[in-house]
Amino acid sequence: MSAIASNLQAVRARIVKAASNAGRSPEKVELLAVSKTWPADCVVAAARAGQRAFGENYVQEGVDKVLATVDLDLVWHFIGPLQSNKTRPVAEHFAWVHSIERLKIAERLSAQRPAALPPLQICVQVNVSGETSKSGCAPEEAVALCQAIADLPRLTLRGLMAIPEPTDDFAAQRAPFCRLREIFEQVRAAGVPLDSLSMGMSHDLEAAVAEGATIVRIGTAIFGERNHT
Ligand SMILES: *Cc1c(COP(=O)(O)O)cnc(C)c1O
Repeated sequence: MSAIASNLQAVRARIVKAASNAGRSPEKVELLAVSKTWPADCVVAAARAGQRAFGENYVQEGVDKVLATVDLDLVWHFIGPLQSNKTRPVAEHFAWVHSIERLKIAERLSAQRPAALPPLQICVQVNVSGETSKSGCAPEEAVALCQAIADLPRLTLRGLMAIPEPTDDFAAQRAPFCRLREIFEQVRAAGVPLDSLSMGMSHDLEAAVAEGATIVRIGTAIFGERNHT
């Protein structure tokens, strides 16, 4: 078995155990393999081991891998910072975007989504770490931003995403994920139907699953340590 295949097996086992500890069904937690910085060969190896959903952070690198693997029927998620001048290739080549923090970017993606493709699936990124993080909308802006995005014709708003500050303490890992789940419930209470909580990475997936993650975004534990970024 390749290293990637055995790593995938180990990550899936972590998800099953974390779900079972939380009294949740493991099928409710989707594994997104974050392949940023790794070549398309690594994506192919993971796909051969049964992995279907992949995440990328950088537009050009991501589009190159999407095009290199078109025959594999993979589902590509864009999870990195997105500037307004780079929205078109994302609208044309990805199925999901997790990192929406402003309405303007969502409007461009909706306008640029090709008519032949299904709506682009969207998560709004929320800053649940306060001043230590610059990414994501403020928690108090989330309801209004979600309401506005839900009205855009070529997008389907699915949920919320967060990248908390890394910490090794389990209780400290859970706190921002709990906060994101509370904001998710607020948005739903305001009448916007969400079904996805994108939270949890290699070092904190157990805490995220305990707090209700439906998508965990895992890079290092599948592909190994990255040299940069
Ligand atoms: C890189 C990255 C991940 C994966 O992180 P690992 O610690 O390697 O599992 C997940 N989400 C986002 C937004 C990332 O940029």
